[in-house]
Amino acid sequence: MIVALDRQHVGKPHRIDDQGAWGDFDGDGKHDVIESESIWTALISLSAEMELRRLGHSVYPMSHGRYSQRHKDANKVGVDVYVALHLNSLTGGTRSGQSGNYGAVFYDGRSSRANGPALADAIGAELGKLPTLRSKVRIWPAKSTDWTSRAYSTIRGVRAPAICYEPAFLDHEHHRVFFENADSVSVLGQALARGIHAWGQARQGVT
Ligand SMILES: [Zn+2]
Repeated sequence: MIVALDRQHVGKPHRIDDQGAWGDFDGDGKHDVIESESIWTALISLSAEMELRRLGHSVYPMSHGRYSQRHKDANKVGVDVYVALHLNSLTGGTRSGQSGNYGAVFYDGRSSRANGPALADAIGAELGKLPTLRSKVRIWPAKSTDWTSRAYSTIRGVRAPAICYEPAFLDHEHHRVFFENADSVSVLGQALARGIHAWGQARQGVT
């Protein structure tokens, strides 16, 4: 399969300084570079790419353009799976402790059972194997008409089964274990890759 891994937030021609969400890891009230969503999604993307390639898949890494353009590019390439890479955070106006203690996988609410929901479930199953996220993985259909519309905008228009992957919260104390270094965060990328692979195998009828 060809898997598009889109490190979103970065590479927006109309918003060059977008780094996504952040978490105040050291509690100094300042937004340090290392506390940015876009830094960690880069490492998640790379670890997912390594695992997908190891499992025999091709990877189309993306990190440039408006999202609508990226979706067109993915369609043009003819990818089999598209993943918008994100991390969650409620920091900025809300007290810590109100943050979510879960990992989220959104799929296109209009997609068929064998595509969106099945792919999301397969990824969620792998994510739920991580001790920190056991029984804390949420799978949601993304739509343009409700609170999921922002997740929907990250994947809308992609013809292949598409996922918005938000495996952890940057500002939840239980999730800090992921954001220590490149090794600690790599489990989030590997879970994504294994879930995609498992879905692909199931779709081909391989057990
Ligand atoms: Zn984001």
